[in-house]
Amino acid sequence: MKTVLISGGGIAGPAVAFWLRRFGFAPTVVEIAPGPRPGGQTVDLRGVSRVVAERMGLMPAVVERQLHERGLAYVKADGRQAAAMPAELLDGAGPVAEIEILRGDLAEILVGATSEVEYLYGDSVAELTQDPKGVDVTFASGMRRRFDLVIGADGVHSRVRRLAFGPEEEFVHHLGGYMSYFTIDAPEDLKHWMKIHTAPGGRWVGLRPDHDPRYAKALLSFRSPVLSYDRRDVEAQKRLVRSRFEGLGWHTAHILDGLDAADDFYVDTISRVEVPEWSRGRVALVGDAGYCGSPMAGHGTALSLVGAYVLAGELAAAEGDHVRAFPAYQARMRAYVEQRMELPPGGVKMAMPMSRFGIAYRDLMLRVMTSRPLAGVLAKSAVANPDAIDLPAYSVERADPFRVAAEEAE
Ligand SMILES: Cc1cc2nc3c(=O)[nH]c(=O)nc-3n(C[C@H](O)[C@H](O)[C@H](O)COP(=O)(O)OP(=O)(O)OC[C@H]3O[C@@H](n4cnc5c(N)ncnc54)[C@H](O)[C@@H]3O)c2cc1C
Repeated sequence: MKTVLISGGGIAGPAVAFWLRRFGFAPTVVEIAPGPRPGGQTVDLRGVSRVVAERMGLMPAVVERQLHERGLAYVKADGRQAAAMPAELLDGAGPVAEIEILRGDLAEILVGATSEVEYLYGDSVAELTQDPKGVDVTFASGMRRRFDLVIGADGVHSRVRRLAFGPEEEFVHHLGGYMSYFTIDAPEDLKHWMKIHTAPGGRWVGLRPDHDPRYAKALLSFRSPVLSYDRRDVEAQKRLVRSRFEGLGWHTAHILDGLDAADDFYVDTISRVEVPEWSRGRVALVGDAGYCGSPMAGHGTALSLVGAYVLAGELAAAEGDHVRAFPAYQARMRAYVEQRMELPPGGVKMAMPMSRFGIAYRDLMLRVMTSRPLAGVLAKSAVANPDAIDLPAYSVERADPFRVAAEEAE
């Protein structure tokens, strides 16, 4: 049984732990946060990622917590609708997918499905030393352990990537903005719509439905070059975000009040992660740590779930031989990853215009695209873009060694 250390207990980490355990490996997850991280807005399960969730047996839990969003509406400072993209128009292939679930709910489901996996919360990898037979890991807590393999599932700012592949600047490309998410008291009944007010200066003030209509998921996003701030200082990050939005219309004042009280505040750059080779010796990357098109491209959760399945599956198919498995994982995933990292036309500039004219132009474009007969053309092109991957069955699935050992002991 090979031991595998997974750094990161977000989405990709627990997903790869799930499959590794299923395939007979002994995974350990180390997560820097003191416990499972709540927070985030709705993320979607589309195409092959839904197939993976089905194979994991997660769909009943996902469906139970599924949100039924009706679409995305851009609103003006007085709340009137400027343009909208109803979900059914693109048959779930647009910004709102058929299966939408809160990121925190999905993370919780994944951690619940890996209850037999060892989780080390409140710790992180400080040093990695590889030799031909294994990897010596020193943790920030001072603990030292040896593993057969290490997987970096620690997000855009992956420490495993920094330690084993090189500095962040080589792989993370800032797309010119920041996104923050947090939960607030709902200032209005959203009627299942995601609403975004775009203000000049490339600023988004958004609300997305929560399960409980008394609450909403707030989104504050702004265009900016790279800023320097302490990623552990949440209050400083809140002040930074607040300073960009004071004085704006719609529900901004209410959202900023909620920002101060939020205990699930999250902010990060809008960045693209590109790593030419996803493995170095006994260390591999999965999810945002290895490939990420940014929240603007979407699909981060889908890529993580599928990447976790393929990485674990290829390791199982190669009977733990990482020299064969890691390149096979990349070869199988590459086209799909490139396809789903693509930004929508116009990218960040089109989505978050700087001027009033730019905002009016974007809204006009959306109204034209969603009008008849163009809506039909748009729907056809969105639907005719299936995921560029054949998902193997990985029939090498073996009996869970822990269960076998327990049964033998009885
Ligand atoms: C709190 C939170 C909220 C988010 N909300 C949204 C959202 O609303 N919409 C959206 O599109 N995307 C959101 N994301 C990003 C989204 O989850 C990812 O793009 C996608 O699901 C890929 O998942 P991942 O597991 O690769 O990365 P992530 O989900 O970012 O998970 C990475 C995990 O690694 C942990 N970590 C980081 N550094 C270390 C370290 N040195 N050692 C150990 N652990 C470490 C982090 O705490 C985190 O739990 C959010 C991420 C987080 C962490």
